[in-house]
Amino acid sequence: MSDKKKEALEAEIRTYVGKPIGPPVTGRDPVNEPMIRQWCDAMGESHPAYLDAATASDTVHGEIVAPPTMLQAWIMEGWEMHEGYDEPKNEQHRLHKLLNDNGYTGVLGTNTEENYTRYLKLGETVTALTVIDSISEEKATGAGIGYFITTVTTFTNQDGEDLGNMSFRVLRFKPADGGASQAASDGGGEAAVAQKPSRIKPPYGHDNGWWWEKVAEGDCLPIQRCADCGKLRHPPRPMCDACGSQNWDSIEASGKATLHTFTVIHYPQFPGYEYPIISAIVDLEEGERMASTIVECAPEDVSIGMALEMLIQEDEDGFKIPFFKPAS
Ligand SMILES: [Zn+2]
Repeated sequence: MSDKKKEALEAEIRTYVGKPIGPPVTGRDPVNEPMIRQWCDAMGESHPAYLDAATASDTVHGEIVAPPTMLQAWIMEGWEMHEGYDEPKNEQHRLHKLLNDNGYTGVLGTNTEENYTRYLKLGETVTALTVIDSISEEKATGAGIGYFITTVTTFTNQDGEDLGNMSFRVLRFKPADGGASQAASDGGGEAAVAQKPSRIKPPYGHDNGWWWEKVAEGDCLPIQRCADCGKLRHPPRPMCDACGSQNWDSIEASGKATLHTFTVIHYPQFPGYEYPIISAIVDLEEGERMASTIVECAPEDVSIGMALEMLIQEDEDGFKIPFFKPAS
């Protein structure tokens, strides 16, 4: 991209800072028990203050309240809002489309921070206003060069009372590997375009690097095991939550699993992935639960509780990752 073109792009993206992405969004349903119950089921939350009216009446709240961490759930919109950026529906979409059209085709959620002011009561209506809070200077990152975009959402009830807020930061970047999008947007040569972007790699940290190495070397799905009490744990972490021991080894999972729950991801589409993605939580035969992807199965054929078997997916660049397919 020429300096002049880049200057113009930067000037244009700066005009988005401080803008609400659109009008405030009000939740489709007031705070209600069925949604609280479903959320608690999904999260494995069993506190009676959220679920049992008789017990809840003896708490400081005097009645059932919603878990504060559910805040964003109350304003979740339907599928129709998320059909990509081809026809931007709000200022955030317009900003992302602008960057996408200029070669910043990758998107990576980097961090989110939520603050909860208080518990929500049944019958309250939640309204959210999201503002594009800041856009960083162009940064060089492991994923590629790009801009960090931070939005801040404030939540209020029907009387305008503050319920909390959430900041959400994404990196909009030009994929570093291949640079195909950069070449394409600059009218670059065929060779560069032919090099496809690949899956975003997980960070190999002190606590989890060994796990990815074992996957790659052994074509297996390792599960960390406490060397003192034998309890299994996943994802990998330094300490056993049963006995506190920091000694561990690992076993190889059988690869047999059942589907706990899933969602089908159509958008946003990151370069290097095939869509739709069936993103799943699976229950391993060994008793641990893990996030993975279902492959070799049409979304309409997926059902909760179905038997699965593991396979090691190997990408074109040699990266290996355990996925699951319907058991044969
Ligand atoms: Zn232990």
